[in-house]
Amino acid sequence: MDHLHLAANWADVRRRVDEACRAAGRDPSEVSILPVSKTFDADVVRAAVALGLHRFGENKVQEIRDKSGPLADCGIAWVVIGHLQTNKAKDVARLASEVQSLDRLELAEALHRRLQLEGRRLDVLVQVKTAREESKHGLPPAGLPAFLDHLAAHCDTLRVRGLMTLASHSDDPAEVRACFRQLRELRDAAVARGHDLPRLSMGMSGDFPLAIAEGATEVRIGSAIFGRRPAPANP
Ligand SMILES: *Cc1c(COP(=O)(O)O)cnc(C)c1O
Repeated sequence: MDHLHLAANWADVRRRVDEACRAAGRDPSEVSILPVSKTFDADVVRAAVALGLHRFGENKVQEIRDKSGPLADCGIAWVVIGHLQTNKAKDVARLASEVQSLDRLELAEALHRRLQLEGRRLDVLVQVKTAREESKHGLPPAGLPAFLDHLAAHCDTLRVRGLMTLASHSDDPAEVRACFRQLRELRDAAVARGHDLPRLSMGMSGDFPLAIAEGATEVRIGSAIFGRRPAPANP
């Protein structure tokens, strides 16, 4: 991927996101784009930084470790969007600016302990499982109220800013859209119970217009910006 292609892709994605906002009667300034740089190396990320991007989503902490060294001069905010094992809490507490894949109590407590040691706080989104596929991670929707209450009461290093989900991988737009709608409804219900959850991270390269129609405040875009990922075994 050369720099010209990257610039063209980025402009095209921004234009399509703006278009989806207008189609949904929303102001384009309400929806931000999180570029997902997983599997692309530090040089590609550096080229994206040259376009003015400074937040990047990664699904493996090891990749953040590998890239953050050579890119230390870029002031990048690394966002964890993939399934996290609790033994990665230490690296996350040091390297990540945000975690969008917080999906269970054990992980929240491991992160909270490490963040206390590091003396810092972390923005988090709670990942909820709205898709039926077994392979998808996320907190079961029914567990969300108790989980949010627990975080508010016991994990003050975690600043919960909203919810995240991955929709079903389906050709049926109604099924995909139902996942996004469920996330918004769960957010609205939590807000009614007193939680402050302005952000909804939902939608990827293949389904972001539906997510925007259902209220996404942030779409996570990989392949439409960076091109096809090299290894299918490493999605
Ligand atoms: C890879 C990934 C994305 C981006 O996917 P694309 O289809 O390449 O846009 C978004 N969210 C998560 C959690 C991912 O792992």
